[in-house]
Formats: sequence, C-alpha cells, structure tokens
Amino acid sequence: MASAPGSPVRVRFCPSPTGNPHVGLVRTALFNWAFAKHHQGTLVFRIEDTDAARDSEESYHQLLDSLRWLGFDWDEGPEIGGPHAPYRQSQRMDIYRDVADKLLAAGHAYRCYCSQEELDTRRDAARAAGKPSGYDGHCRDLSTEQVAQYEAQGRTPIVRFRMPDETITFTDLVRGELTFTPENVPDFGIVRANGAPLYTLVNPVDDALMEITHVLRGEDLLSSTPRQIALYKALTELGIAKSTPQFGHLPYVMGEGNKKLSKRDPESSLNLYRERGFLPEGLLNYLSLLGWSLSADQDIFTMDEMVAAFEIADVNPNPARFDLKKCEAINADHIRLLDVKDFTERCAPWLKAPFAPWSPADFDDAKWQAIAPHAQTRLKVLSEITDNVDFLFLPEPVFDEASWAKAMKEGSDALLTTAREKLESADWTSAESLKEAVLAAGETHGLKLGKAQAPVRVAVTGRTVGLPLFESLETLGKEQTLSRIDAALSRLTA
Ligand code: GLU
Ligand code: ZN
Repeated sequence: MASAPGSPVRVRFCPSPTGNPHVGLVRTALFNWAFAKHHQGTLVFRIEDTDAARDSEESYHQLLDSLRWLGFDWDEGPEIGGPHAPYRQSQRMDIYRDVADKLLAAGHAYRCYCSQEELDTRRDAARAAGKPSGYDGHCRDLSTEQVAQYEAQGRTPIVRFRMPDETITFTDLVRGELTFTPENVPDFGIVRANGAPLYTLVNPVDDALMEITHVLRGEDLLSSTPRQIALYKALTELGIAKSTPQFGHLPYVMGEGNKKLSKRDPESSLNLYRERGFLPEGLLNYLSLLGWSLSADQDIFTMDEMVAAFEIADVNPNPARFDLKKCEAINADHIRLLDVKDFTERCAPWLKAPFAPWSPADFDDAKWQAIAPHAQTRLKVLSEITDNVDFLFLPEPVFDEASWAKAMKEGSDALLTTAREKLESADWTSAESLKEAVLAAGETHGLKLGKAQAPVRVAVTGRTVGLPLFESLETLGKEQTLSRIDAALSRLTA
C-alpha cells in the first residue's frame, strides 16, 4: 500500500503471537487495513510479544504467513522496517524502561509494594463494605521511611500509574461519547516486579511513538481506553506523545448459543478456513460483515469495493453473530466469480496428496480441465473438489453404502440394463445426447429423469450427489462408464 505523502491517518494492527490466528483478529486487521486504505493512510504492523510465557516464534511466523495469505499489505512492520523500527516489542525493552523511569521521576507513576495477599484482603474488605474494589491507592504517597522499611523487608515493587482524580470522557468512533468516573478506573500496574513492562504501558507508548492517529480494536479492550487516555496525557506532558489518538471499538463476535466467539471455538481458527479451502476474498468479504455492511442489498463485494466505501462511523456497535452457513454461501459466490483458469489453479492443492486418494499417475489433466467449469458452480469450499472428482481418477468409484442403498431399488437392475443399451448407442461427444439416453431408459420403465439417473450416478460416481451427471459421464468416457454400469449390475444380481 502506498501511503500518500502528508496523509495524517496512521493506524496499527498489533497482535500478540499467542496460539493460532483466529477470526476476531482477522476482522480487526481487516477493518484497520480498510480504514488505512480508504484514507490513503499508513498501516503499521506491530508485534506485541512482551509476554515471554505466552508468545512463541512459531505463532509469530504463522501470523505473518496468515496475513500474507489473506492478501493484506502494510507500510511499516517487522521484516519490512520503517521509521519507527523495530516493530517487535521484545526488541524495544530499553524504550519502555526509559519511559517508565520518566513517568516515575515526574510523579505520574509510583512504586507499589503491596503483596498480592494484602491486595486481596483489602479488596475483599472493600467489597464487603460495598466500596469500589479496585486498587485503593495505598502506595501513592509513601514516606521515605515506609519505602525503606518495605525495601528492608525484601519486597520488590511493581510500578503503578497514578490515575488523575477526574472523569474521563471521549468520543468513541463507533459508540459515540463514553464517560468513565475515577472510582471505576483505579491506578494500574505498568511494570512487573521483575522489571517486565506490561501491555498497559507498552501498547500506548508504542502508539505514541509510532504516531498512531486512530486505534481500532475489539470491544474487549474498551476498559483499557480511559487508562490509555490518561497515560497519553502524561506522555504528552513529558514530550513523548504528540497527541492522543481517536479510539473506535469494534463489536463483539458471537458464536454458537449467542456466546462470545472464543479463541478455543474450532470455528474461530483461521487455519481451519484455510485448510477447508475458503478463498481469502470470500472469507474477508464475510468477516467484513461482522459489524459493517456495504449496502442493504449487496452482500458480495470485492475488497476494493469495501475499501472505497469503508467509514468507521458506519460500524454497528451491537454484537455481530458469526454464521458459518452464511460464510460458506458467500465463499461459494466468490468461487463462482473466479475465472475458470484461476479456479483450476486454486484447486491444485486438493488434487494431490495428502488430500487426493488417487495415484498421481492416474490424474488426467484433460479430464480435470473438462470438468472444472461444472465443479466451479457447485463448491462451497475448494476442499470439496477432491470428493467431487475422485470418480474420474480412481480405477473404480468409492461406493458410499448409504448412497448405494438409497439409489438401488427394486427394478434398478432393469433400469440400468436399459440405460446401458441406450448409452451404448448415444453420441459421446454430447452431454445432451447422454441425457436423452437416460431419459429414454427412464420412460421405458415409467421413471422420471431424477429417479432414472440416481442409479446411474451411483454406479458411475459412487454417490447420490455430485457434479452435473451427463457432463460427468461425458468426461469419464464411454468405456469406463459402461464398464462401471456392468460392475454395478453384477453387484445387484449377485
Ligand atoms: N496485543 C493486543 C491484543 O492482541 C493489542 C490490543 C490493541 O489493539 O490495543 O489484544
Ligand atoms: Zn501498593
């Protein structure tokens, strides 16, 4: 993405590399990307890997790979660099230490020596008394003697940010005006006792240093916003931040049973969509509808159309429901929109091991090219291609027993015998002629086309559902079609 010189918009996408990428994370990336592109701004990709216990190099690489597969591009980030490098927080520890020291020196932060036990006891007491149960400010103004005493006891302090005793109001780009009163936003930790800086510090510090103008992120992070606004004010005073960004919180994504879609839900795993053969453009089209829409009567659109129309003010603050069926339907539409050549190429991974059950030597590209246009109109996801075309490349069809039982009724042997005769003398360069043959066989036995073609389909492909039958027969060819009908007849009469 080329950023327009002088464009004021700078947004960021800043995941933590913990576990597999999930759809909520992709939705956040998408909205930031679309916002940046719409405003010809700059998208910064930052890795928030300060939690050594949870972050891994493997998920970092998976993240990069997934974002590239989805087709995202960004202007600054790890591996491509930029004016605010490095873009991995694990490589910026000196910066955070320095900012924490400055906040301490200026009195915006203080050392808190309270043990977890003491905090718990006081919290329980406050709760019992019906008072706010957040941090009570115990260490805000310790005397030198108290500090010396705690130090002598061997306590190691955390660093806590001193919240101003004032109400914080801001206008959320999605939700409008929001107000937080001081009793709901207690002083919070920014550096652990072991010296490790926390999300509460590193995220706004980097947003400030990287000159982020708009923070678009999930609603789950809304409670950190008043803290970050207060921290920004302190950073501005210290000359570290230039201004405070605007914030927009994207709606929750709800899964089954109207519960928040969790990272642990299988349908939230991005890898699953990739393995099943969703197109990046189909998946992104669907994810864009989680909180936004192009128009009331157009569900299917390209990412260019989304970028052109995307306004953050149009995002709906209400929770969005994740609907796998709809996601598949939208993907199916995008599969249909591909040109055939593109479609055949994108199917390639599912036409070989480990997905394909046929031996590579039996794969016939001419047959594949002939059947592909018919397959394109039928698939919801690309992985379905394997089962749909296996009859073409396996020496014998894989019989699905339930399909066999359903299609092979009394009289099926007579029907198949007639169909075989008629097919024998049909014109094998025309699917229409093959259809007429089966239609005529059906008439002979008083069966409509649908009933007449079911046993033929199962005999030849092994299943009751599949690609358009007569194009399938034409592609398979006369010899194999007839010998499969013969095999089915022997099985029926055995
Ligand atoms: N690393 C944070 C997360 O993945 C980023 C939150 C934010 O956008 O501020 O939740
Ligand atoms: Zn304390």
